[in-house]
Amino acid sequence: MVLVCPFRNLCFLRVNLWLIFCCRHRAQPYRSLMPETHSTAYDSKIEGNVIFTRFDAALNWVRKNSLWPMPMGLACCAIELMAAAASRFDIARFGAEVMRFSPRQCDVMIVAGTVTYKMALAVKRIYEQMPEPKWVIAMGACASTGGMYRSYATLQGIDQLIPVDVYISGCPPRPEALLAGLMKLQEKISGERSFRNQKPELAEKLEEALG
Ligand code: SF4
Repeated sequence: MVLVCPFRNLCFLRVNLWLIFCCRHRAQPYRSLMPETHSTAYDSKIEGNVIFTRFDAALNWVRKNSLWPMPMGLACCAIELMAAAASRFDIARFGAEVMRFSPRQCDVMIVAGTVTYKMALAVKRIYEQMPEPKWVIAMGACASTGGMYRSYATLQGIDQLIPVDVYISGCPPRPEALLAGLMKLQEKISGERSFRNQKPELAEKLEEALG
């Protein structure tokens, strides 16, 4: 039999109030030793919000941490791609959980599975509909090389049609391998000269103006 005191809540309240009182009371003597602060002398907002960096570095940082994948799931590798988005592996840690099924909202195509000739031109067309800048991950042996399907029906690697940035080996690769590939892509993006590559004329004019 368990006996529960009907006044237990009141007891806890009294103990907590007593603790709060003691802490406040003990802090009083030290208040006089603390320096006076003036509201205009220090603006923490400015200190925290001003960052000096290169434009390329800032742009790349934003891009690499907000990749929106186009899940081009064509065969069994797509199951591992789906697992990477689930809670156990959680691709959201890399800011890449926003899988989009509209090519106009994506910037990284993940080709996961066997690319047959029947699908190959559709993959190319979807890639072409994605806006720049865009990247491609070939996930698994089939997407990278045709895998075990050395047959008349299978494209021997998606890089025969579109440029691939990262290849992931395995049949199928584990979700961790996809995350590792994603990190490789992030490394690659952080080293790109994004502004110069996309706006070469403007970059030249700026350099001339700056001497
Ligand atoms: S690499 Fe293996 S798991 Fe992936 S699509 Fe090809 S056969 Fe399936």
